[in-house]
Amino acid sequence: MKKKKHFIPGILPPQGNLGLSWWFAFLQNQLLLHQESSSVRIPYLVRFAELGLPFGDQHYLGQLDGHSCYAVDLPEGTVAPEGMAFEGLRKVYGRLDEDLFWLAARAVQIAEWDRTHRFCGRCGIPLRLRETERAKECPQCGLLLFPRLAPAVIVLVERGHELLMARSRHFAPGVYSVLAGFVEPGETLEEAVEREVLEEVGIRIKDIRYFGSQPWPFPHSLMIGFTATYAGGEIAINDEEIEDAGWFTADNLPGQPGKISIARRLIEWFLAKKGKPSIDP
Ligand SMILES: [Zn+2]
Repeated sequence: MKKKKHFIPGILPPQGNLGLSWWFAFLQNQLLLHQESSSVRIPYLVRFAELGLPFGDQHYLGQLDGHSCYAVDLPEGTVAPEGMAFEGLRKVYGRLDEDLFWLAARAVQIAEWDRTHRFCGRCGIPLRLRETERAKECPQCGLLLFPRLAPAVIVLVERGHELLMARSRHFAPGVYSVLAGFVEPGETLEEAVEREVLEEVGIRIKDIRYFGSQPWPFPHSLMIGFTATYAGGEIAINDEEIEDAGWFTADNLPGQPGKISIARRLIEWFLAKKGKPSIDP
């Protein structure tokens, strides 16, 4: 995640002269984009209404190099205008400017949260948006709801010159990755890392160290990356999600997860440490 532009998050849209803004418009989780020969472009307009589409709520996200950014929810059945199309975010990565991509990842989560959190879970009446923070509240009982985030840990486990990789049933053929899983209530991140590796492949680990993090908007996770070293055990797959796991060396890696993922950054880190060049797409 290399960021070149400067983004200042905000809740309250600016008043008065609006200027050109970035509009991240979603039909469910599909982003509306101008289609160009080798790339795609986010609508950049003073008002979203210029596209002539019906639209629901607008959520101000903040300022990108002085230009406002909004998430917009489009009603079901919306048809993309001439020269535009709806695309899932995963397919857009690499074809859209990196900063705008990660803003789209932010926008899709706000739009999805707004669409799926309409009523109070306690009294069932409509929630209202708070003006001063990204939250909704129940006007009757005061229940507060914030955008959903599901923290997930991801860990690269080393054993000498090898790293541990596994293959989920959902992966494309031949692709392996480092292990990941959701954090459970009451766990520290380190406990979640230890439990996931033990549960999924029967391996004990030590020296768990923070590596970095990454928003993962599919649909609303935050990936928190770690490195660790092998402490014992033999690979024994216990998880229905995983169909194979093994130890691999830098010279003998299987297929890789895509460049969008922190998994790939962890693997690149391992390769760099072993003095190997990074892998191509
Ligand atoms: Zn309520």
